[in-house]
Amino acid sequence: MYQEKEMQKVLKQVFGFEQFRPNQKEIIDAVMSGKDCLAVLPTGAGKSLTFQIPALLKNGVTFVISPLVSLMKDQVDQLRKLGISAAYINSSLNFVELRRTLAMTANQKFKLVYIAPERIHTRSFQFVYNHLLKKQSIALLAVDEAHCLSHWGHDFRPSYRQIKELRKYNNIPVLAVTATATQKVRDDITRELKFDNKALLQIGILDRPNLKYSVKQVLKKENSLIEFLKDKHEKKGIIFCSTRKSVEIVYSLCRKFNPNVGSYHGGLSDSDRKRVQENFCKNNLKWIIATNAFGMGVNLPDLRFVLHFEMPGSMEQYIQETGRAGRDGKKAECLMLYSLSDRKIHEFFIANSQPDSFVTQHLMDFFNRQEYPLDLTDQELRDNLSSISEKLEGRKLLRYLQLLEDLSMISWVTKGNIKSYSLNDKFDLSKLPLGILDNNTNEAKRKLDLMEGFCLQSTCLRASLQHYFQTNPTICGNCSHCLDEHQIRIDSAGPVAQEIYAALKTHPMRYGISTIAELLCGGRSQALFDRNLHGCDHYGVLSDYSQIEIKEFITKLVHKGAISRSNDDFPKIGLPKIRNQLI
Ligand code: ADP
Ligand code: MG
Repeated sequence: MYQEKEMQKVLKQVFGFEQFRPNQKEIIDAVMSGKDCLAVLPTGAGKSLTFQIPALLKNGVTFVISPLVSLMKDQVDQLRKLGISAAYINSSLNFVELRRTLAMTANQKFKLVYIAPERIHTRSFQFVYNHLLKKQSIALLAVDEAHCLSHWGHDFRPSYRQIKELRKYNNIPVLAVTATATQKVRDDITRELKFDNKALLQIGILDRPNLKYSVKQVLKKENSLIEFLKDKHEKKGIIFCSTRKSVEIVYSLCRKFNPNVGSYHGGLSDSDRKRVQENFCKNNLKWIIATNAFGMGVNLPDLRFVLHFEMPGSMEQYIQETGRAGRDGKKAECLMLYSLSDRKIHEFFIANSQPDSFVTQHLMDFFNRQEYPLDLTDQELRDNLSSISEKLEGRKLLRYLQLLEDLSMISWVTKGNIKSYSLNDKFDLSKLPLGILDNNTNEAKRKLDLMEGFCLQSTCLRASLQHYFQTNPTICGNCSHCLDEHQIRIDSAGPVAQEIYAALKTHPMRYGISTIAELLCGGRSQALFDRNLHGCDHYGVLSDYSQIEIKEFITKLVHKGAISRSNDDFPKIGLPKIRNQLI
């Protein structure tokens, strides 16, 4: 392995760690030998180290593209504490700081420079980048949270598409890392970044055997919450809610029987949020009731539970949030209290998160007509846009500005309460990709559907998480669904299974799980009559069981490989070509 001793030395002497975590060595080795690499490892697996160590071992500057201003600052602060020269370039810098940082970057005063994707495009950065390129002084391009590159990811950022510009005319290795990437997202990343066939794809195990997943469909969530928490006074955990309002409700409920709880949401001041986070990390608080604003950068090994008071908006979010539990490898519980109405709030979020194209166009038109540099306070900007100013109240203005920045239309530096804007070259009204806005909405809805499907299904939860992220699913035997007593014991050779196989032999790959289950249970839906299935020999042979039980049973057989399922939008089931020994 390439420079193994060197790698080990940096790990120990600079970062103070004794040994590499799984996958880290393989990734660093690939990067050191000049290969591109996509690493998909769970949150907390230690992905940052996989670009930080090569950055120290290689000559030149490593650029890290990162989507979150707050994360960049945390990482840079941490690196500086370790004595590593690092900096960040994003919209939180004022004009003087930005100039200084760019100049020092050009003079190779930093080993690592974190950069916001929307800054890649700026002339000043391009100048520095090309200067370093000429001097062959760029060590590596690291793309953190690489799923932001893909439409199919849960957090698509158009500006991530600019990363590929940095690859032009050079062979600087690229390391893309993310915690959540389905096959589609992985394909998008490797295509977008133009990985060649030598690239390494390192996928860590997303399965977390020490977590017990449960989904409970309940009407009165408060009762289930109290029931769950009653023996957990000494255990540390997070309770996630979808809205600030539910954070407040749950918080006051929990306060009644545990004084050591804190609440956390975007409506609190920065200092309050910091204080709550610190108290939680120092163990002064046992439970945190929070919106998903909480947790970025919090890395506590000993969380014993994560409770979702409401369903999150996507499987990616769910896996990220539950992934915070049990990092120490000891047992931890992940409970979701689900009700059918949880969906509504996410539909509302989706409808409101997408900027209105009329307002966007209006803003672009305004910026197109100005002289630059343009210095304005937010209020002055609103005053200039009086016809749409009510649509730009509060934080909405910032969201629109960020969209324009993200689309590389404008950029700005802050000076006190003034923003000093500049207009980018590519600015063109006809290029406003309104399609992206619509696509985002559809994609968000699709993800919500999948999340809801997860809550409603009756099969093994851990297996479906694995299935979703396309690792090989196995039935866990430990989640609420596997442990539920009313379920039929899975016996792939028993009489129930034999009836199912017989039906599939008659109707190979023609129907989905629901139809076959209904047929066997003797259902009375119109669809069954339309297909003339009520007259078939298999009709009603398993009428002692409910359709849900049989559906679940079939799904388990699918997971076991005893039944195969097609891959289309409406998957059909049948017997596998080679019937394996399980049958
Ligand atoms: P990720 O980006 O994969 O979510 P991070 O890079 O933020 O994870 O790392 C999570 C934590 O694990 C950090 O506190 C980091 O210092 C720690 N860590 C990373 N690698 C190691 C290692 N080899 N040994 C011990 N701790 C490590
Ligand atoms: Mg990370």
